[in-house]
Amino acid sequence: MRVLLRWLLDLLYPPKCMLCHRLLESSDQMTCGRCDGALPEQEGAGRTVQFFEAFVTPFYYEGYIKDAIRRLKFRGMQTYAPQFARWMAARVRKELEGKYDLISWVPCSGRRKWTRGYDQSELLARALAKELGADCVPTLKKIRHTKKQSKMPSAGARKANVLGAYKAIDPKSVFGKRILLVDDVLTTGATMSECGKTLQLAGSGALVCTAAATRRKT
Ligand SMILES: [Zn+2]
Repeated sequence: MRVLLRWLLDLLYPPKCMLCHRLLESSDQMTCGRCDGALPEQEGAGRTVQFFEAFVTPFYYEGYIKDAIRRLKFRGMQTYAPQFARWMAARVRKELEGKYDLISWVPCSGRRKWTRGYDQSELLARALAKELGADCVPTLKKIRHTKKQSKMPSAGARKANVLGAYKAIDPKSVFGKRILLVDDVLTTGATMSECGKTLQLAGSGALVCTAAATRRKT
């Protein structure tokens, strides 16, 4: 019955590559061979992010990866989160194994979550935790609405824009805990740093972080 249902679904909604939209042979895949061979993989030392011991990411925020993340963020493509989490998990296993007790995420504001219907960083964090067999818990709350970081003209303005924007939900639950914090995209790291500072002020242990992609260092 399940096989039949799958066959029917594939017929009605032919599986397509989540990156380039070419038709796929099987719905077991999310991406096509052509994309798999041409992913903008992040290489070398990652960015340093203040308040974090390490930052890892599978990709540069470019090309099909950038488009797919934008669809995950703005076009309701929540179904992409598990695949991005698989890509992130590969880097986390390799480079951050044993460095965290729990996984959490950089939350968007309640207002944005309400209009969008979900928080894409939470989806990524939850899928990543499932992939890694780790605990995923909310640790931070966004306490004021900020302007879009991408609209800020300078690094200083980005920092100022997010200053004091987050609060630890329950300092007791993060006390002494080593946390792997997840965001969708890391650009300059201003938002991630602000979250790291907030967690450390709440008494967390050492921190590491990851994102689905990062901007190339210029
Ligand atoms: Zn493709």
